[in-house]
Amino acid sequence: MSVNLQTPIDYLKGVGPSRANLLRSELGIYTYQDLINLFPNRYIDRTQYYTINKLQPNNAEVQIIGEITALKEVGQQRNKRLVATFKDDTGIIELVWFKGHKWIREQLKLNTSYVVFGKCNWFSGKYNMPHPDIELQKTHEKNLHSAMLPIYPSTEKLSSRGVSNRVLVKTIQQLLLETKGQFTETLSEDLISELKLVSKSEALLNVHFPKNQHLLSRSQYRLKFEELFYIQLQLSIKNLKHKQKIKGLPFSNVGQYFNTFFTKHLAFELTEAQKRVLKEIRNDLGSNAQMNRLLQGDVGSGKTIVALMTMLIALDNGFQACLMAPTEILSIQHYEGLLLECNKLNISIKLLTGSTKTRERRDIHNALECGELQLLIGTHALLEDKVKFKNLGLAIIDEQHRFGVAQRSKLWKKNSTPPHILVMTATPIPRTLAMSVYGDLDISIIDELPPGRKSIKTVHRYDTNRLNVFKFLRDEIAKGRQVYIVYPLIQESEKLDYKDLMDGYESIARDFPMPNYQISIVHGKMKPADKAFEMQRFIKGETQIMVATTVIEVGVNVPNASVMIIESAERFGLSQLHQLRGRVGRGAEQSYCVLMTSHKLSAHSKTRMETMTRSNDGFEIAEVDLRLRGPGDIMGTQQSGILNLKIADIVKDNVILKQARYYAKQMITKDPSLSLSKNKNILETYKALSKYKNIWNYIS
Ligand code: ADP
Ligand code: MG
Repeated sequence: MSVNLQTPIDYLKGVGPSRANLLRSELGIYTYQDLINLFPNRYIDRTQYYTINKLQPNNAEVQIIGEITALKEVGQQRNKRLVATFKDDTGIIELVWFKGHKWIREQLKLNTSYVVFGKCNWFSGKYNMPHPDIELQKTHEKNLHSAMLPIYPSTEKLSSRGVSNRVLVKTIQQLLLETKGQFTETLSEDLISELKLVSKSEALLNVHFPKNQHLLSRSQYRLKFEELFYIQLQLSIKNLKHKQKIKGLPFSNVGQYFNTFFTKHLAFELTEAQKRVLKEIRNDLGSNAQMNRLLQGDVGSGKTIVALMTMLIALDNGFQACLMAPTEILSIQHYEGLLLECNKLNISIKLLTGSTKTRERRDIHNALECGELQLLIGTHALLEDKVKFKNLGLAIIDEQHRFGVAQRSKLWKKNSTPPHILVMTATPIPRTLAMSVYGDLDISIIDELPPGRKSIKTVHRYDTNRLNVFKFLRDEIAKGRQVYIVYPLIQESEKLDYKDLMDGYESIARDFPMPNYQISIVHGKMKPADKAFEMQRFIKGETQIMVATTVIEVGVNVPNASVMIIESAERFGLSQLHQLRGRVGRGAEQSYCVLMTSHKLSAHSKTRMETMTRSNDGFEIAEVDLRLRGPGDIMGTQQSGILNLKIADIVKDNVILKQARYYAKQMITKDPSLSLSKNKNILETYKALSKYKNIWNYIS
């Protein structure tokens, strides 16, 4: 008879009510299944012992053979602890217990060989090992089935309440005993033979108690593949359902507007990447499903032209289109750029933002409703309920990160049949992450810059070098260039940051005096109108220096600006640094980025500076960022749930992830409802997993 893995953990021999509670609250283990899926973080070689004189303050857990020579209780009341003097031939350490003294004291024998295992702390001149795993050497040798001891995730509470690593090992051994090590296979025979995977039972046994390193690696591979495969399968199925359910507006024509623009007005040859992406978009628009596509492309890669040409297709099919940007400045820039093209094509286009005057606003509303207005550009003002379209066929969102899923769905509702949606982002989300998180979005990538773009020279300078940097600025300005100087602005210390900015501005104003130099300043505390005014002065070239906080981060386009100075660069994250740098390098001139920092840099800050000076590739930078910060921080907590993986690591197991994605997609293509009998295991596992919360809940 096989054991039901949904059995509550309380039923396992050796797990009483209090341990069961601890396992639940500390490790989220409710059932046999949860326990068998508690995978070791690492393994230590149990045939290796440390001698006390070889201990180092930064050792992880160590194993030592020695004897207890004395036992005493020290401290008063809540500070009371049991201390054992533990000695080998080379030295002495202390073993310390803060709880459960009486029981431990009765068990321990003096002058008898023990093996202790745990982490040693260096404290007032000696090492101590709190709450060690301790075992008579005789017993230890008898129990030594495998050279590799699994080390399980733990918490302070668990170890102080007696649920040590040894207890976890024993509990899992007990589970394997009760289940006879037999577990239902969860992958199909096809997959197992094609990928030469070990069976589920063998993988579970060897991941906990590896017979040897080779079997351990194969077992880990199998379990990682399985974990990632089911996530990918779920995403693929969701994507498929979405496409079947949401009928889209079929844009069958590529007509007059598109063709006229393409043949007469397109000022340059599209890059191969732009052509590929346009093709992907045209495929979507021509199909019966609603397009829901994420367009990723580094700053300057030419997303705007793709957006325009997509809008032209919508117009060619008699529909309206809109483009939404996160800030007023950006929407104005888009509007002005697009207006030039629209005038040539005789297309009506308007701008709608928070500052649009009531009268004009009303005109826009009316023109939209009767269908006279074809294109609308703006900020989130577009989302207001009053903004009604006659027939919105396409909505484009620039800079995904500033808008949430909620806003996307608001746009959906602007037409009885949801419009096609194109989301554009210049923040490259690492491919691995995008693959796992954006289940409902198809992804297009522009991974190529237009030709002739000079890569930006980036250097790192310490504050002490400021005079040299200023001299460099003077030289560049003398050549007719413009300069950005950016200060960090981080919510918590807004006041201080503001002071930094103002101090910085004053010192720059001293070093770059009027009338030879004109300086603009833009920051978050200014009124939108003042901000726009200052921006315009810089855009027109009336000022040479723009002192700003990160409000200029997104999208601003001033081709003549060729130097970006980032103050306190150590306080910015990698993706932000890359975004800021993208403000320069937009013209024909060689551009520069200078990262100013103090001498005190953490290891991570150093890595960030090195990455920036080494690479101009947004995707490469994003991958480093992912490694430094972890997926949760990058995607925000709301979306990190999916990445709460048990055994696979989205960064390190990138190759397995791609493989899992490939096989999941293949499976869904060949057997969309998983109804073939050879896929029975897959269907059952899939159904079982779908019932559970945690990782299988991802953003929609
Ligand atoms: P982003 O992807 O950052 O939005 P833009 O669309 O603003 O980039 O494009 C940056 C600049 O490159 C614009 O001035 C645009 O006209 C130009 N550009 C775009 N595509 C090409 C191309 N294929 N060849 C030459 N220049 C291009
Ligand atoms: Mg852009």
